Amino acid sequence: MRAVVVQGHGGYEQLKFEERPLPEPGPGEVRVALRAAGCNQLDTWLRRGVPGHDFPLPLIPGSDGAGVVDALGSEIPDLAVGDEVVVLPGLSCGRCQACLAGKDPLCPHYDILGESRDGTNAEYVVLPAANVAPKPQSLDFEQAASVSLVFMTAWSMLVDKAMLQAGETLLVQAGASGVGSAAIQIGRMLGARVFATAGSKEKCRLAEELGAEHAIDYRQQDFVQEMRGTLGRAGVDVVCEHVGAATFAGSMRCLARGGRLVTCGATSGAEVELNLRPLFFKNLAVMGSTMGSRGDLLRLLPLFDQGLLRPVVGKVLPLSEVAEAHRLLEERQVLGKLVLRI
Ligand SMILES: [Zn+2]
Repeated sequence: MRAVVVQGHGGYEQLKFEERPLPEPGPGEVRVALRAAGCNQLDTWLRRGVPGHDFPLPLIPGSDGAGVVDALGSEIPDLAVGDEVVVLPGLSCGRCQACLAGKDPLCPHYDILGESRDGTNAEYVVLPAANVAPKPQSLDFEQAASVSLVFMTAWSMLVDKAMLQAGETLLVQAGASGVGSAAIQIGRMLGARVFATAGSKEKCRLAEELGAEHAIDYRQQDFVQEMRGTLGRAGVDVVCEHVGAATFAGSMRCLARGGRLVTCGATSGAEVELNLRPLFFKNLAVMGSTMGSRGDLLRLLPLFDQGLLRPVVGKVLPLSEVAEAHRLLEERQVLGKLVLRI
């Protein structure tokens, strides 16, 4: 099978195409013939490398995917060759206390497709049966490949960590990004008043179409001042962060008393300054979050067919243009999600 393989960390030249043997599913596993793979910032972290983190190279990138079940390693109830499925990107033991409590990202054996195990930038992928779910019927393969990682991540941030409540206010940084566009929709679905920042007029328009009451073009306006102008000094209850150094201090200043900042990324840099006085005087919380539970994702997927959530695919490229896909993601030129057609 044809696959993209990262052999070493570096520039786009590290995304090499290889012919790999067709992977065979073992007992309890399925082989999926992929039709599409969603691209995530995680793919670019794998290619560039992350200080202090060892990726088991060589590795096939790609955490999100959708396709058709092509072979089963053993009989598996409710799954048959030909089923259209969405790939669930987190793998865990399924037996430890964390897994059984529905907190699979805390499992000591947690693996992420395309980060610690071969992913979806290939014609086929082999997975445990627990890592595929029926494709929502209203979504095509490209749309279905765009939703798992970002919606699961945003759900875990807003519901599990920040415990966002109906009637609260939410500020979503980079609201036109993959995680941002998911967070706006989930925030609205939960009954929050949602605000967003974005880096262009077009991105602000998308954030507002998705349900943000007001989107601030952070390149033109100071988002802290703008939020104070909108909400007064009360501040915002929850900030959804994944930008990092460029926005963190401002995000903290936006928070209301009892406010929560939850972060899942640091695309503009990971080193930030934190003033402890407002943290304790205002009873603030800063929380980290990564991935989310498969159980929550199974609960989210039917909401696409019910029209409560929608995928936001801004760009589709063939797998052969994976390097261009990384460039567009890194230069933040994509509205919503970028998907590779396989
Ligand atoms: Zn476990």
